[in-house]
Amino acid sequence: MRYNKIRKMDISNGPGVRVSIFFQGCHFHCEGCFNPDTWDFNCGKEFTDETIERVLELCSKDYIVGLSMLGGEPMHPTNIPGSTKLAKAFKERFPEKSLWSWTGFTYEGIKDNEIFEYLDVLVDGQFKKDLFDPRLHWKGSSNQRVIDIKETRKKGEIVLYKDEEY
Ligand code: SF4
Repeated sequence: MRYNKIRKMDISNGPGVRVSIFFQGCHFHCEGCFNPDTWDFNCGKEFTDETIERVLELCSKDYIVGLSMLGGEPMHPTNIPGSTKLAKAFKERFPEKSLWSWTGFTYEGIKDNEIFEYLDVLVDGQFKKDLFDPRLHWKGSSNQRVIDIKETRKKGEIVLYKDEEY
C-alpha cells in the first residue's frame, strides 16, 4: 500500500495542531474531490514500518494533540491493514492524543473493522458537490457525519461529535 503525503503540522483537519497522513488510492472518485491526486493506487510512496515510526516521531511533540488519517481512502481494503497498524501503534504510544479519520464509506458498512478500537472520531460519507457548505467544520458536504466513535460504540447508536467549535 502507498501514501501521498505527511503534514508535520496541520490545523485544518480536526481540532488543534495535528499530524496528518494522506493515504494513496481512492475508488470513490467523488465529483469535486479536494484531493484527486490521491485517487491512483499506484502513485505516492510506499507505506512501511519506517513510515509509521516517522509519523509517531512527529506525533511525539508536545504541541501535537493528535493524528488525522485522510485520503485517498484509509478504509479501502488495500489501505486498511496499514491504517489499522498505524492507528494501533499511535494509540499504544499516545493514549491521551486523539485519532481522527475520514472515509467515503458510511460507518455502518465498515464498523466491524479492528480500526474502530483505536479511532476517536470518524468523518464518513462521500463528498457530494450539491450538498457542499463551506460553513461546515471538518466535512465538505452536509450528508457527511462527524461521528464520536467511542460514544457510538458504547451506546450502540450513532453519536455525533460535539465541542464548542462544531
Ligand atoms: S472519498 Fe474522499 S478522497 Fe475519495 S474521491 Fe471522495 S472526497 Fe476524494
